[in-house]
Amino acid sequence: MMQLFIPLNFLGFVYREIRGAFANIERMFDLLEKVPSIQDSAGASNQLLSQGRVSFEHVGFSYDSRKILNDVSFTIETGQKVAIVGDSGAGKSTLVKLLFRFYDVGDGRICIDGHDIRALTQSCLRQAIAIVPQDTVLFNDTLIENIRYGRPEATREEIDAAIKMAHLSQFIESLPEGGETKVGERGLKLSGGEKQRVAIARAILKKSPILVFDEATSSLDSHSEQAILTALKEVAKGHTSLVIAHRLSTVVDADRIIVLSKGRVVETGNHSELLAAKGFYANLWRVQQE
Ligand code: ATP
Repeated sequence: MMQLFIPLNFLGFVYREIRGAFANIERMFDLLEKVPSIQDSAGASNQLLSQGRVSFEHVGFSYDSRKILNDVSFTIETGQKVAIVGDSGAGKSTLVKLLFRFYDVGDGRICIDGHDIRALTQSCLRQAIAIVPQDTVLFNDTLIENIRYGRPEATREEIDAAIKMAHLSQFIESLPEGGETKVGERGLKLSGGEKQRVAIARAILKKSPILVFDEATSSLDSHSEQAILTALKEVAKGHTSLVIAHRLSTVVDADRIIVLSKGRVVETGNHSELLAAKGFYANLWRVQQE
């Protein structure tokens, strides 16, 4: 029996590993639509990045020869929530791609817990960051297995706790077979808001110190939006979070808001400071209120 158990157990391990790898690849494609070309440097170190303190120091970046980011500096202290806002094409998603090191910066540096990310292994860097992408990929399996994607070795208790935190319990209870309901291409189709909450549950399971939330550009109904905002608030408690925001309602409670325009930081402050400054953000706010 034991002889049979060991290979089966091993096969299960391989299956979970492969599935975990696919989850990462899918996240990559969510973010970048291509496989990164960055390699670990010769002396790359494997640090435990437990604080989740992020600093962008005079970061500049160009796609080909087109300058996209210019002298961008900001710090996110452990546990803080920082939001990036700005016009379409301002460079918000590019900041996240650089933090995840899909590309290397052209000028300046990005550090996590004081380590230049170019001196770290990509595996320890990616372990430190959980991303909730704009559009989450669900594979053809049960909802529970889709959530387990965040950390294949998670226990059922941990998955249940993540479901609760991501405000998915009510939704799951309403499904014909609860968490065992098949979802994805050939199963139940989830709405944009439900899919983002599945991504939030995955991110909770991953237990990374840094959470990046790339808000969906497509509009959600107000009930869905509220559920996501509440879920995010809970998750953010234990994390350093970076939010790429399209709707300003997401950023009102941020510790700091970075306003990007044409690849430069034009304003920073919290919501009330930026409204009082009557500048770019105040204008954006007025337009969105209308
Ligand atoms: P949005 O709010 O519309 O998502 P954004 O602020 O996130 O926009 P980015 O996606 O960072 O903006 O893009 C910044 C600029 O870089 C844009 O002009 C875009 O066309 C360009 N860009 C983005 N990705 C690439 C790429 N892979 N190759 C070349 N140019 C790119």
